[in-house]
Amino acid sequence: MELREYSGVIHLHSDYSDGHLGVEEIIRLSLEAGLDYLFLTDHDTLAARRDGWDGWYTLDDGRIRRLERGAEAGRRLLLLVGDEVTPDRNHYLALGYEGPEELFKLAPQRVIDRVAAAGGVGVIAHPDHRGNERFGIGCYAWDDWSVRGFDLVDLWDLMTDWQDHLRGLASALRAVISPVWVLKGPKRRSLRRWDERLRAGPAPVVGCNDNHGRPYNLLLFTLTLLPYPLALRTIHTHVLCEPLEELDWRRAEAALLEALVAGRSFIAQDYWWDARGLSCWAENPTGGRLDLGGTASFEDGPWTLRLELPAAARVDLVGDGELLLRRRTRCVTFTVVQPGAYRFEVWRRRFGVPKPWVFTNALRLVPRDKMQ
Ligand SMILES: [Zn+2]
Ligand SMILES: [Zn+2]
Repeated sequence: MELREYSGVIHLHSDYSDGHLGVEEIIRLSLEAGLDYLFLTDHDTLAARRDGWDGWYTLDDGRIRRLERGAEAGRRLLLLVGDEVTPDRNHYLALGYEGPEELFKLAPQRVIDRVAAAGGVGVIAHPDHRGNERFGIGCYAWDDWSVRGFDLVDLWDLMTDWQDHLRGLASALRAVISPVWVLKGPKRRSLRRWDERLRAGPAPVVGCNDNHGRPYNLLLFTLTLLPYPLALRTIHTHVLCEPLEELDWRRAEAALLEALVAGRSFIAQDYWWDARGLSCWAENPTGGRLDLGGTASFEDGPWTLRLELPAAARVDLVGDGELLLRRRTRCVTFTVVQPGAYRFEVWRRRFGVPKPWVFTNALRLVPRDKMQ
């Protein structure tokens, strides 16, 4: 199957809930930011879906125009409407989902089950969100890890990462002046939990945005802390997927979700350097190939892991949670000598300071009797 790369944003708010901008303006800004797809996820509502916003769009002289299929134009955006199920804590994104919308009163496991039963794909949103008492931000972490049946976990969340810098006035000022600079990457705790889950089975992850773009009135002027044009250019999930351009939005949504659930994706902070073109796979001498997110039998090896980057950077190869290799390079070739879940973290220097750039999904090579 031919796979193409689609870079987009998952988890964003519009004025259908507490986001600042309307969907039309968000579509325009997403096209200007070069996104291929956007999952809009307002709180406990699918009203944007009922109003018919799902679809393909392009820009004509600065105005958005709707397309039947993506093939009709060069720069195009696939807008898809999901729902962020929003209890006090344990927020859950329901993608490819038609309702019901009133799930926020249910316990986490029941929310997961209801979304799955309706054929939706569920994402545990910002699981390690901390909130910030000093700045009046509540904590919206995911508490219940006894749950089963969810599809994806948000590994790197723009809002969580950025809000973590609001520790005092000086750091808050830094975060407001240079919001991209202060991003630190997925939290250690999120990475540790992910590595543990990968030992047990496939555990695909995505990057999320969760921007609201709300302006705040400060005495004489109005300040938007994370304006949409900036937020839409930061954390993206690059999906490797069958070609979507000939598909109507419903079929394109299904194909995109299938690739996300398979883990055929990587997360990148693209504001300074676009990670498009990155490829990562494993291969064996008999022509076997394993794509990102996949699982294969270790005994079918020897397997070679391969990573090719669009630019040189510091690459960390992590196997079962341990750092196996650190190298400044554009290409990595690594022969696997023991079973495990292997993934790459890529950091690149900006003015001499290492900044998080790419986090790939894992390639799992497991003993044959543990294949699942
Ligand atoms: Zn949330
Ligand atoms: Zn949200």
